[in-house]
Amino acid sequence: MKSEKISILYIEDNEGDIRLLKDLLHNARDGKYEITTTVTLKGGLAQLADNQFDVVLTDLKLPDSDGVNTITRIQEQEPSIPIVVISAQDCEEIALQVVQRGAQDYLVKGQGDGLLISRSIEYSIERKRNEQGLSYLANYDGLTGLANRLLFRERLDRALIRADRNKTLVALLVIDLDRFKNINDTLGHDAGDQLLIKVAGRLEQCTREGDTIARLGGDEFTIIMEDVKAFEDAVKIVDKVLNGMKNSFDLLSREIYVSPSVGISMYPLDDTDAGNLLKNADSAMYSAKESGRNCYRFYTVDMNKKLLLNLNMEAKLRRAIERQEFVLNYQPKFDIHTQELLGAEALIRWHCPDDNVISPAVFIPLAEETGLIGVITDWVIKEACRQNSEWQQQGYAPIRMAINISPRQFAQENISRRIFNQIICADLAPKYVELEITEGALMDDVEKSNQILKELKGRGIHISIDDFGTGYSSLSYLKKFHIDTLKIDQSFVRDIMEDADDAAIVSAVIAMAKSLRLNVIAEGVETPDQLNYLAAKGCNEAQGYLLGKPVTAKEFTKFFDSKVVSPTIKLAHSA
Ligand code: C2E
Ligand code: CA
Ligand code: CA
Repeated sequence: MKSEKISILYIEDNEGDIRLLKDLLHNARDGKYEITTTVTLKGGLAQLADNQFDVVLTDLKLPDSDGVNTITRIQEQEPSIPIVVISAQDCEEIALQVVQRGAQDYLVKGQGDGLLISRSIEYSIERKRNEQGLSYLANYDGLTGLANRLLFRERLDRALIRADRNKTLVALLVIDLDRFKNINDTLGHDAGDQLLIKVAGRLEQCTREGDTIARLGGDEFTIIMEDVKAFEDAVKIVDKVLNGMKNSFDLLSREIYVSPSVGISMYPLDDTDAGNLLKNADSAMYSAKESGRNCYRFYTVDMNKKLLLNLNMEAKLRRAIERQEFVLNYQPKFDIHTQELLGAEALIRWHCPDDNVISPAVFIPLAEETGLIGVITDWVIKEACRQNSEWQQQGYAPIRMAINISPRQFAQENISRRIFNQIICADLAPKYVELEITEGALMDDVEKSNQILKELKGRGIHISIDDFGTGYSSLSYLKKFHIDTLKIDQSFVRDIMEDADDAAIVSAVIAMAKSLRLNVIAEGVETPDQLNYLAAKGCNEAQGYLLGKPVTAKEFTKFFDSKVVSPTIKLAHSA
């Protein structure tokens, strides 16, 4: 407590009481108190708004206020000011109410001398200060000194009310530091803490006075921006935040760079509920992370829909597995020169009771994300092998069954033995099975991939690189990998006749595959011209709508029966 002067605001409408108190305090502690007086509550609140006081003394009964209401009004405006009530009523009941509303002490007029009043004033100031200390702990983040989650929610609620009143917007930013965990892991937790403190400082620099910055936990910060008139205002500040973080942070005499991902939701445009606003800003932040980090994203309703869709889809997928809603279609693969049926690619279809057929392009990525892909792949392998075995038993000429293996699946432990076992269980020779694997799946861990490929090939299973050309296979790896076939992606085949670049890529891939003694197949062949071009370049196999669409197992048998693919095709290199 300041040892010098204590400034008191005394709200009292009785002139006699004012004079008496001034005398008493003057006698008790000469010159210690500076007393400002006012006769109405309204006047008192105006004084509090304009001036700094150490304490308020007040009567309860004023011309414009009565009872505990007086305390409530002062508290609302100045939550941090200590209040001592000096009332004519000697009533325990009221005294208790007054203290419960936030006053520090209750004195009865005419009781006690100047010393007692003086002591009460000073204790009240001290007590309030302790209270505030506790409330500081409860409301602020101990590490950065920013508002914590509790205070953040309180401020957000208040900001929304103010925005309604002033017809303005509130922008809520959620900021997450990219790769903060790395810094923690490599430089240690103390350094991580130092960084968070520095980041808090930067955030304070690039926001306006009156904005609330809070740390919600870990490396997640949030900013409540009030008085926003338009989207552009929010964008300006977010740009400032991103710019402010561009410079390096000095940490353990190293230069550390951190980039933030920022998600923004706007009140009342996105939602009117404080909790939802935070949720929305959070999902916008994740979308910012997804789209490459160090950027910001505004929340959009679509995002929420996507989340919901994903949630529903996951539940539906689980059900689909239990209820066996999956079927396989088969698309034929032909020898481009002899037109002979060589194989089939198994393509999964999901007959969802409420959505008809859902494309694998939609649900396979989701199955990968949720880990459900394992069960699905097991089923596909089993069913495809069973079907192929059945055809052989029915006396059709043996063909090779191609199965798509998703990248996640490929990296799994003992994948090769699992696949091999299923083939054997279906009573099928491994040479009648082919696995289609994308380049990306192999490039993640080249050594490990090649080990798996080697095992699979060693067991007689064929390996094909799917969607070839879309990834980043380096030629040197191709040479090393234990593979049989390159499957040229349909995006190149599509424009072969119109796009000289695509045509050149396709010819080069075919030439390269030949020199590496690899088989090469083109997928997505839709026109006779495309087929002729591929054949002329020496491509071995073809697959596509022109030759046969994916069909059910039953329909597929028609491809066994006719060697002639279609009478309209004129092959350049007829066999
Ligand atoms: P993908 O492996 O590239 O399969 C070829 C896709 O192209 C199939 O789509 C097929 O129906 C389609 N297609 C075939 N010929 C033509 C054509 O001439 N023109 C056009 N425009 N398209 C053609 P689908 O069946 O929708 O499958 C999409 C993707 O889903 C597949 O691409 C594959 O990556 C994945 N997928 C399908 N079944 C499975 C499965 O059982 N397991 C896994 N992991 N993925 C699968
Ligand atoms: Ca494929
Ligand atoms: Ca493909």
